[in-house]
Amino acid sequence: MFDTGLIEKLVSSENYFKKKEDVEKLRHKAIKMSHKYHFENNKFYHDYCKLKGVTGDIKSEDFHKIVIPDGVFKSYQMESPEKSPQEFKKWVDRISSVPLDFTPKGMGSLESFLQEFYSNGMLLGFSSGTSGKLTFLPRDSFTQSMLIRSYTEAIDATLKLNKGKENFILGIPKKTFLQVGFNGKVVANSISPGNVFHAFEELKADIIRLRMRGPRSSKEKVMNYFIKKMLPRIEKKAITSIVGQLEKNQGKRIVFMGPPFLIIGTANYVLEHGINAKIGKDSFLASTGGFKGRAIVSRDKMNDLIEEAFGLDPKRYIDLYGMTESNSIMIDCMEGNNKHIPPWMEVILFDEHMEPIPQEGKVTGNYAFLEPSSKSFPGFITTGDKLKIDYEGCPSCNKTTPILLSIERLPRIESRGCSGVLAKTVAG
Ligand SMILES: [Zn+2]
Repeated sequence: MFDTGLIEKLVSSENYFKKKEDVEKLRHKAIKMSHKYHFENNKFYHDYCKLKGVTGDIKSEDFHKIVIPDGVFKSYQMESPEKSPQEFKKWVDRISSVPLDFTPKGMGSLESFLQEFYSNGMLLGFSSGTSGKLTFLPRDSFTQSMLIRSYTEAIDATLKLNKGKENFILGIPKKTFLQVGFNGKVVANSISPGNVFHAFEELKADIIRLRMRGPRSSKEKVMNYFIKKMLPRIEKKAITSIVGQLEKNQGKRIVFMGPPFLIIGTANYVLEHGINAKIGKDSFLASTGGFKGRAIVSRDKMNDLIEEAFGLDPKRYIDLYGMTESNSIMIDCMEGNNKHIPPWMEVILFDEHMEPIPQEGKVTGNYAFLEPSSKSFPGFITTGDKLKIDYEGCPSCNKTTPILLSIERLPRIESRGCSGVLAKTVAG
């Protein structure tokens, strides 16, 4: 069985500060439990493990054998899932570890198809690459709750939240199944229900797919033409509505989160128009994946912009690194702006021969993670990112977890940053 109590004990902010060895013990216990559950309940994973000579009982030294490629989550054959609802459901059933007992109708829009799954208890959060093929992660209600818990505990370990009292300004849509947007929305709403402002209303999956892969029919061509014409207006409206919120909250504590292009756009607008958008000194600014792959501006330049426009100490600008496949984020600590790996996540780096690199000192390799909190899919995944990690931890703060020194994408793997998707879809 899936031991939810064990997972809840592991996914807790206090584990950032506990002895490394003790937390490792707890984490390994949870990974072994989660592995056994998926081995017994996930057809795909079962076959994969057997191929690797792994059974339901695994030793810590074999963890590197059970990570599955992230491509699994876009391995469906059809071009448009909503047009082959039964076939697509079969694919979801194969990669998922919890049964889903309903027959999807589909045949409408992709957005309404995803809504059908969501209404039946399964979130299919997605991300998109430049090819336009969407990656889908099936999250049942427990896994969704662990995603919220994982984000909240990680943020709490860094920022000390006033739960129920924080005011959020989010540069992400109110309604979307784009995973990065969905995460920001549910986490903010769980921390301070009702105190969340969204700069956009809705971002439909169909529009994201169209913008990422380009139009495939004459109907889509017409749609694309109008969307392109609308974009500058949508972006400008988002910026002016955020600016309005900032003005309203002059000198007050707020948490402002959004993709870097929108933060930069807002800061430039404020400076060009001589607007007073100086928020409280105890506020926070957060962006996702801003410095992953193609940085729009350097961190130094961004720091200057933030200080000038919002009157905020750049140390309170926190960059987050996450993945659609993961329930967790790595967050900058305020002491040294170093991204910490959450204590509930095991990171394994692989060398060019796909051999695991010993977890000591500063090492660079292909990033894989083991995250036991995912119940509806195995959270043991290799990615297309190359990371440099310092296993010795942070020189600036008292957390005991390893830190992330740098991120780069592996060559020839398509760019799939969630922030990039938002920029391409929304930025005019
Ligand atoms: Zn630190």
